[in-house]
Order: sequence, then C-alpha cells, then structure tokens
Amino acid sequence: MSDERLLTPEPNDDDQQAEKSLRPRALGEFIGQEKVIEQLRIAIVAAKARKEPLDHTLFYGPPGLGKTSLAGVVANEMGVQMKITSGPAIERAGDLAAILTNLQKDDVLFIDEVHRLNRAVEEVLYPAMEDFALDLIVGKGPSARNLRLKLPRFTTVGATTRLALLTSPLRDRFVSVQRLDFYTDQAMHEIVARSARILGMPITAEGAFEIGRRARGTPRIANRLLRRVRDYAQVVADGIITLEVARAALSSLEVDELGLDENDRRLLRAIIEMFDGGPVGLSTLAAALAEEVDAIEDVYEPFLLQLGFLQRTPRGRIANRRAYGHLGFPYAEKTSPSDDPNAPQQGRLW
Ligand code: ADP
Repeated sequence: MSDERLLTPEPNDDDQQAEKSLRPRALGEFIGQEKVIEQLRIAIVAAKARKEPLDHTLFYGPPGLGKTSLAGVVANEMGVQMKITSGPAIERAGDLAAILTNLQKDDVLFIDEVHRLNRAVEEVLYPAMEDFALDLIVGKGPSARNLRLKLPRFTTVGATTRLALLTSPLRDRFVSVQRLDFYTDQAMHEIVARSARILGMPITAEGAFEIGRRARGTPRIANRLLRRVRDYAQVVADGIITLEVARAALSSLEVDELGLDENDRRLLRAIIEMFDGGPVGLSTLAAALAEEVDAIEDVYEPFLLQLGFLQRTPRGRIANRRAYGHLGFPYAEKTSPSDDPNAPQQGRLW
C-alpha cells in the first residue's frame, strides 16, 4: 500500500506543520471524547487544589485521535511545561536519566508509543514514576554501590496505540488509564468546522459534515481531507467548500461514502477473493498484500473492525457480510465448520 496514503492516521510532514495551529489547547476547546474530558477535568481540579502534579495518565487508542493533543491540554490546564519524547527515541537507560534530571517540579513528561520502551529503560522509569527517584549504580565491580537521587514530582503522560503490548508493571504505574474512541459524526463535523475557521477556509455546514463523516472518525484524517478538498475547491470550484464540492473532491480522491480508500478495499477484497472470506491469519494476509503486520493491525484494521466489516478470531481475520455488501460481492452463508471461529482447526493453513 502506498506511503502517500491519504487516509492513514499516522502523521506526515504536512500534518505536522498544520497540526501546530489546529491542536486544541484547553479542555474547553477539545471536541468529543466527553467521558475522558470529564474525568480529566475532575482530576486536574483536584490536583491543583492539593497543589500536587496530576496523577500519571495513560491514553490509548488508534493514531490520530488526539492523545498528543490531550497531553498538551493537560500541561496547559495544569500551568506546567511539557517535555515530549517517545518509546523508540529513548534508547538507553542513561537517555531517560538525562530527561528525568532535567524535569522541573510538576512538569508533564509525555512519552509517545510508550509500549516501545525497552526493558532497561522501563526499569529506570518505575522508581521515577513511583517514588520520584532515580536509582544509579556508581562504580564498578565489588565497590559498586547504589545511589538514589531524588527527582522533582512530575506527571508521566503515556500514549499508546497498543495497550496489550504494555508490560504490566508499567501499566500498573499509570494511575489513570483512558481510552480514546473514534469520534462521532457530529463531533467530526465540529472538528472540521473548527479547523476550517482557524485556517480561514470558507465552508458550509453540509460541506464540513461530509468531510467529517468520511474521515474514519479520526481528526487527523479530517484535517488532511479538509486541506485536499480546499485545494480542489480553489481550482475546480469557486473556493467555497459546499456539499457538492466536498463530494466531488472526495470521490476524485477515491475516498468512498464510508471513508474507505483503495487500500481498505484491497484488504477486504483479498480476504474475500483470495481466502474465501477467511479466516486468514494476519501474517498470511500481510504477505499477500505485501504489507507490514503492524500496519495492518494499527492502521487499517481498527476502523474496519469498528464498521463491522472485519472480525478478529483466534484463527484469523474474517470478512463479514457487511464487507461483501459494501464491495458488491454476493455473500454465501458458510456451512463448513471453518465458519465457526471456535471450531477445531480443520487442517487449513490459515
Ligand atoms: P494522536 O497523538 O492520538 O496520534 P494527535 O493529538 O496528534 O493524535 O491529533 C492529531 C490532530 O488531530 C491534532 O493536531 C489536532 O489538530 C486534531 N485533533 C485531535 N483531536 C481533536 C479534537 N478533539 N478536537 C479538535 N482537533 C483534534
């Protein structure tokens, strides 16, 4: 699947530029995710009243739903600085020690992709999160001894797309664990309208709704589609994003009614045509599509699961009746035991 994929929820360079101005900065500006926002609001008021840093907080959910934005909102609302890093960026225990010793009291340390921290680094993070302490070993051999340095109290905000990959000691150290869900059409509409306002783009309510509706419940994708539709409106229409302009632009970008693109359809077609609807094992599917297993799991599947197009079963992925209908394939009810995800393996390869 192409790297230039329009609907991937992972950020590209253009997004990173645009996102700076579009990120919500205060709780009141954050659209949707009401349950999470409510809990954060209470936690922030309580922490401020106690004059303590906020409890360590973990956000999990598919990419592009606002985890990084929320970390920034938390820091702003607490009136503290945020230091940003990520699991893969901290290679050695010493790298994390350097970050920790540079923190100021009450700061937010944001660790993106926190499931990708390595073991040695995690070991340093545990006492830091629990006791605000840094354990160092000084000297070598028999004269080596432990030294415990006190750190300022701070808040770790972790973000992950893969909660299941977090080690349980790390997960246990997050006092608050919040799941972000795909946004509703209404919230997506508001997000598109807000972004258009900030970027000074003329757009009708219907145009904003249409873009939001086809953006897979993901604000990052909505903002990206908005920029592409704006280009289209400027060149092909008279600059105003109306419903008709949004529809025409999105169909020229091959984003369909449900927000699926050619890559999603290719994945579903592969399951239906090559593997008879499944079940097909993830690695077999990845090989057939020349895709990374991680990309399928993190990027493509969550939304297809949400739409009810796909099922994850112990024996592999299955395309549901709704996927057949959407792609225009006839759906034949299966009677073989392979249809039952809990049935014993029947000697199939996937
Ligand atoms: P994640 O860290 O989950 O990948 P981000 O926080 O980077 O997601 O969000 C991606 C972009 O989507 C942000 O720059 C912001 O413009 C937009 N965004 C995310 N959530 C919201 C929201 N609730 N309201 C408005 N814009 C949002």
